[in-house]
Amino acid sequence: MQHRIIVLGAGYTGAIAAGRLAKRLRREDVAITLVNAEPDFVERVRMHQLATGQDLKPRSFSEMFAGTGVELRVAKVTGVDVDRKTVAVTDANGAEELAYDMLVYALGSGWNAQGVPGTAEHAYEIAGRPGALRLRERLARLDAGQSVVVVGGGLTGLEAATEIAEARPDLDVALAARGGLGDWLSPKGRGHLRKVFGKLGITVHEHAAVTGVEAGRVATADGKVIPAAVTVWTTGFAVHPIAKATALEVAGTGQIVVDGTMRSVSHPDVYAIGDAAMAMGPGDKPLRMSCASGTPAAWQAADAIAARLTGGKLPNAPIRYFNQCISLGRKEGLIQYVTADDRAVQAVLTGRLAALYKELICKGAAWGVANPTLGLPTRRRRVTRERAAVGSAGKALA
Ligand SMILES: Cc1cc2nc3c(=O)[nH]c(=O)nc-3n(C[C@H](O)[C@H](O)[C@H](O)COP(=O)(O)OP(=O)(O)OC[C@H]3O[C@@H](n4cnc5c(N)ncnc54)[C@H](O)[C@@H]3O)c2cc1C
Repeated sequence: MQHRIIVLGAGYTGAIAAGRLAKRLRREDVAITLVNAEPDFVERVRMHQLATGQDLKPRSFSEMFAGTGVELRVAKVTGVDVDRKTVAVTDANGAEELAYDMLVYALGSGWNAQGVPGTAEHAYEIAGRPGALRLRERLARLDAGQSVVVVGGGLTGLEAATEIAEARPDLDVALAARGGLGDWLSPKGRGHLRKVFGKLGITVHEHAAVTGVEAGRVATADGKVIPAAVTVWTTGFAVHPIAKATALEVAGTGQIVVDGTMRSVSHPDVYAIGDAAMAMGPGDKPLRMSCASGTPAAWQAADAIAARLTGGKLPNAPIRYFNQCISLGRKEGLIQYVTADDRAVQAVLTGRLAALYKELICKGAAWGVANPTLGLPTRRRRVTRERAAVGSAGKALA
């Protein structure tokens, strides 16, 4: 009997986990199924580029996983039953139930309207491809002088505002941030941000909490009304509600609570990675939703599963941060170096070199999905029936 491992979601983390498991475990012993709503890999970190009219390199999963032993199932996940160990999926042929012995949950996240009135109806978003394409089409129809307001002063907001302003210098682009512009960055980092925003002509509304979105404008808590032919909402990500509807232990955010090996603290046969997981990082702070922490988490989960199924050594490399890589259009960037727990230090890299660095990081992230062991030689190890039973039940080898 093969050990059935189902990976849900083929974004940065799910695709890496599935590919890495296939490199670590003997083909005869496991059936690895990767379920994803789309037939191709979406470079989510480039959605602001897609929205501003740039075309992204197509990356088909059938090519990526050819010959790896991973079976791709293009279908939408509609539910998970962790007691019966089944996943409900639908595709063009209808609904079906898939049974698993071990589950890796990596369904990522979407945008977060945060309950602000009018956002769902009037705002655009770039958390995923459909949203980015919708914004792309809308931006293309804007006339010179029309206003775009990006709401959210986090990494995605900074990247979106600068990308739009650079691609469309004829538009009136503004950013509304709840705090100060880049207030978590080092003084040098903040200074550079202000310089680039100034050069690109982006108006910055600081300490402006947006409380409502209407057609043509947004309102802030201090009573300001900012004209916005287009509002782009980037105030954080929210996870899909599927995990919350299961018996899994989830955090208030709906993320699955996992231990240091990315294993669910309530269900040992379930692992969660990427945006969908609540894992503690350095300084006992939750890992932030990012590829920066999601990628090592995917390696960690795959290696832990392989170790538990084959009797190998459990991985225990701590997941830490090195830098925050921010694109500021195609010609400018900011690399803010950080402590292990993601706090800015003095050192930054700016300018064209930073833009190039960020581009290499994005290329590297996509390369890492297709090369889940980073090109290093690996040995496929044998899964024994006993190990499989213990690994799933989580009684030993914890
Ligand atoms: C514009 C933008 C810029 C970003 N820049 C950076 C950056 O510079 N650095 C960084 O570290 N992070 C960045 N991020 C965050 C990063 O993209 C995410 O943290 C990362 O993609 C999370 O990986 P994941 O595998 O958890 O989820 P995802 O990459 O979102 O993958 C989830 C997968 O699950 C699939 N899926 C979802 N629901 C279902 C369903 N019901 N059925 C079937 N399939 C489903 C999706 O189609 C997708 O393939 C950025 C995000 C955005 C939007």
